[in-house]
Amino acid sequence: MRIENDLKLGFKDVMIRPKRSTLKSRSEVSLDREFTFLNSKAEWKGIPIMAANMDTVGTFEMALALSQQKLFTAIHKHYTLDQWDTFLDTAPANIENYIALSTGISKEDADKVKAVISKHPFLKFICIDVANGYSEHFADFVQQTRDAYPDKVIIAGNVVTGEMVEQLVLSGADIVKVGIGPGSVCTTRVKTGVGYPQLSAIIECADAAHGLGGQIISDGGCTTPGDIAKAFGAGADFVMLGGMLAGHAESGGELITKNGERYKQFYGMSSATAMEKHVGGVANYRASEGKTVEVPYKGDVKDTLQDILGGLRSTCTYVGAQRLKELTKRTTFIRVAEQENQVYN
Ligand code: 5GP
Repeated sequence: MRIENDLKLGFKDVMIRPKRSTLKSRSEVSLDREFTFLNSKAEWKGIPIMAANMDTVGTFEMALALSQQKLFTAIHKHYTLDQWDTFLDTAPANIENYIALSTGISKEDADKVKAVISKHPFLKFICIDVANGYSEHFADFVQQTRDAYPDKVIIAGNVVTGEMVEQLVLSGADIVKVGIGPGSVCTTRVKTGVGYPQLSAIIECADAAHGLGGQIISDGGCTTPGDIAKAFGAGADFVMLGGMLAGHAESGGELITKNGERYKQFYGMSSATAMEKHVGGVANYRASEGKTVEVPYKGDVKDTLQDILGGLRSTCTYVGAQRLKELTKRTTFIRVAEQENQVYN
């Protein structure tokens, strides 16, 4: 039996130490980042925060709202070709910079990607997403996708360890998605015992990706703007959000009214709810690994974005990072045994 004794950390285990700085105001901070991706050689500029490819979050409506502020949406894979056609007919001219087409690794999924891209060849990003990115078949699929689409930006995941990040980058991924089990509606750690604390996963995976010239997305586990700042501080190039973007006007999921209060349904993509909706139920060889919850209705996502981006600018001011790019270099984490004061919660 093997035990790795190194303690692995999550967002709740650390804070960012403030540093002397010459910045006078958070208005001096730029959150824009620019990348030239390793394998596709494509260029990108924007604020590197992404809506997750869940059908409750990665919607066309979310993409319209987020792209206005140069944020990204991984569009969920359950839209039909007709729905893509209708959306792209009226979408803003530069929308391809702010959306990815998501896919699993089945033949059906690959055929849908082909159909959408054949019809809309200007689409730029493909997000190949599986819950467990450790199978050989997955790396092969990434390689086949790279061969078929040499100049598309390929996102692939999820994994949590450096050697698998390297494997995926070498198989053709530009950006590797990192996170197993930290998600707000994820029950993988409970159902399987498998996982990796997200902050350590980011630190280790960013190191592996950056060593080869690739990028990573920290996917899952952010519950506050402070967590997003910690993810960037740890080395994430992009941060992907599910729960923090759920419950808005632009989110998917049913709107429910109970005792005069409004809620929106939010569920994991491997929850029984999602499986019933998309594949007619939970197959008998698997267990659901996601929860279904009702989150209080939060109105337009732009107010939440202001809260997130304001928090992140403030983090940068506290450590003297004028640009988001400098945040990792300026971050020193301290290990802690407390977070916020809960007395009025
Ligand atoms: P959040 O931001 O809500 O903490 O995490 C979002 C991420 O959770 C998603 O991007 C995805 O990686 C993960 N996720 C979404 N649905 C499920 C699910 O049903 N099961 C598991 N294990 N993870 C999920």
